[in-house]
Amino acid sequence: MLCVGCGEQAYTRQGFLLDTVVRITLYDQDDETMDACFALIAECEAALSRTDPESELAQLNARLIDTVSDETAELIADALAIAALTDGAFDPTVGRLCDLWNFSAVSPTLPDAGEIADALVSVGYDGVHLDGSRVWFDNSQTMLDLGAIAKGEIADRVCVLLRERGVERAIINLGGNVVVLGGTEEDPYRVGVQDPASPTGNSLLSLAVTDATVVTSGIYNRGFTVDGQYYHHILDPHTGYPVENTLASVTIIGPSSRQADALSTACMVLGETDAMALIEATEGVDAILITRLGEVLFSAGVKEKYDVQFLREEGSD
Ligand code: ADP
Ligand code: MG
Repeated sequence: MLCVGCGEQAYTRQGFLLDTVVRITLYDQDDETMDACFALIAECEAALSRTDPESELAQLNARLIDTVSDETAELIADALAIAALTDGAFDPTVGRLCDLWNFSAVSPTLPDAGEIADALVSVGYDGVHLDGSRVWFDNSQTMLDLGAIAKGEIADRVCVLLRERGVERAIINLGGNVVVLGGTEEDPYRVGVQDPASPTGNSLLSLAVTDATVVTSGIYNRGFTVDGQYYHHILDPHTGYPVENTLASVTIIGPSSRQADALSTACMVLGETDAMALIEATEGVDAILITRLGEVLFSAGVKEKYDVQFLREEGSD
């Protein structure tokens, strides 16, 4: 994702964490703050990763523990609330389904329909309960996967750390999950929104933002093709299969990266009409929907609040 802050000299550090490229830009060379940001991300990953068997989340899924840290409990509670709000379009209990699809494998394979049907029984946000930081499940097979909300949450936590240290301008980019800190109307950041049809990940448009998050979920991020059919990593929790609708990507702009991350995934599952209705009903957030045919749909506030620039001629690449 293109992300440019104007004006001053910028210092960027990049690393591979959270199974993606993490890039942080500060406007003062401050190695200690940079170190602290990367250490925080590594610490969050150590708690929230589902693949690391030592993580809090993996241990909860294995029923080795039933009490998690306050931060993790709060994140799970919010994930369940967004699941309820979206009628399970976003559902953090897709863990077993994600294991079956295993999109991060070197050569993923199509899961067996029977196995998907079995795994579907373990999916359902209303079967997870919290009392403080204790978590329990109705179904012993239910596994949590916070992959659709964790990057947003972690970006928010990095933002808090930066503010606590008095940093006034920064860009946090966790694999396209962007938060910009600071900026002014005269000197905003320009954040690019990827063209889902571009094989090289070119931006289709950019928008000017200050103190905001811009988060995209798209069918092009991870996937594989079998017999001419493309399977991508955003699953419909009601069917167990990758969601099939007119949408190629959803970008959410708002104040909270955690919320934007979850909403971007939810909107992908809800489809054009319901996604737009959800965004218009949610205070403070806007959305840019790009369809598989390349049509761009804006929620009512986008053009009002953000300067949008298309970056290429229609039809060119
Ligand atoms: P990305 O990880 O590419 O930024 P998302 O934020 O949309 O994209 O998250 C997708 C990830 O979330 C998947 O890899 C999987 O771990 C999980 N997931 C897939 N479908 C759903 C869903 N309907 N609800 C909640 N989590 C999901
Ligand atoms: Mg998401």
